[in-house]
Amino acid sequence: MKWSLKIGRLWGVDVYLHYTFLVFLGLVGLDSRLQTGRWGSAVTGVSMFLGVFLCVLLHEYGHAMAARRYGVTTRDITLLPMGGVARLDRIPDAPIQQLVIALAGPLVNVVIAGGLGLGLHLSEEMPGSIRELESAGFFPRLLLINAGLVAFNLLPAFPMDGGRVLRALLALWIDPARATRISAGVGRVMAVLFVGAAFLMSSPMLGIIGVFVWMEAGGEAISMEMRAAMGDATVRRVMLRRFRVLSPTDPLSRVAEWLIEDSQAEFPVVDNDGQIVGVVTRNGLLDGLRRGGESAPVEDVVQRDVVQLDPGEALETAMLRLEESGLPVALVVEGGRLAGMLTSENAAEFLALQRALRRDRVPPVLVSRPREVG
Ligand SMILES: [Zn+2]
Repeated sequence: MKWSLKIGRLWGVDVYLHYTFLVFLGLVGLDSRLQTGRWGSAVTGVSMFLGVFLCVLLHEYGHAMAARRYGVTTRDITLLPMGGVARLDRIPDAPIQQLVIALAGPLVNVVIAGGLGLGLHLSEEMPGSIRELESAGFFPRLLLINAGLVAFNLLPAFPMDGGRVLRALLALWIDPARATRISAGVGRVMAVLFVGAAFLMSSPMLGIIGVFVWMEAGGEAISMEMRAAMGDATVRRVMLRRFRVLSPTDPLSRVAEWLIEDSQAEFPVVDNDGQIVGVVTRNGLLDGLRRGGESAPVEDVVQRDVVQLDPGEALETAMLRLEESGLPVALVVEGGRLAGMLTSENAAEFLALQRALRRDRVPPVLVSRPREVG
């Protein structure tokens, strides 16, 4: 995620802190200081905040570890002021596995709350009522917050875990696409309730959450529909097969001509022995022309670290790798030879065709994104 600071790597997953998190941390400290006029309470406020975020971090690890059980890697975990985000490589197709991954996060907070409750009970410091719990010390308040995290996360609305739990439960009985549509609809109703409650309780925070939930409900539905459209298509089915190929010694003038002549904007570069060198992009060409003019050779502007795909690779993971590379094109390689190219445009065309065939009325989406679990 952009604007994030890596704070470490634990159990094979990189942990990032979003810069807004640090700003928020400063505000919490300042706010506690202003309210009481003492720096001591600023320290208490900040340590409470950090305690809560340790619990949120463990919650995200709950998702990550459950995903690992099913062979799914977690790219990273990012902590934001609003909570955490774990980016999973993919979401398993089996609803029961989706259910376990979604529940694993809140389950961690149940365990933490249970542990704190037991500790407080044994040390005989457990307050008698929730009201007392709120005004009690660090650990009773942390217990209350963990219970709140469980309740909030289990609300049946995306991007909360409850939205995914609902979808996975529905998908056990009905078609996954319908399960997604229904749970997105429930999420929208929840969003409206949030905004209504925000006005009644004059809580801007609830309003922000409501708007966020409304937007996510649609986003999640689109990304699930897109997965369904991709199905088990492989790169071979989608790749471009007719295109022009450059040699490293070709002059840039040739690339410029080709760029005008037809719609191809990225050109693979292959040497005389058939070895793949890389790709020349439209931007690379323009840069090269500015620096070296038309007679400069292609090898001066070739982008060598281009993603190489296997024709049998699933389109879904191929699209993720293409997107991460930051380049508009990936090369498909079979037996060490160039077999095709994959661009986000031709993948989008493929998805549009699939949708037309299935007569789905879903807005077109051009790019995929890694799955995020809150
Ligand atoms: Zn979660």
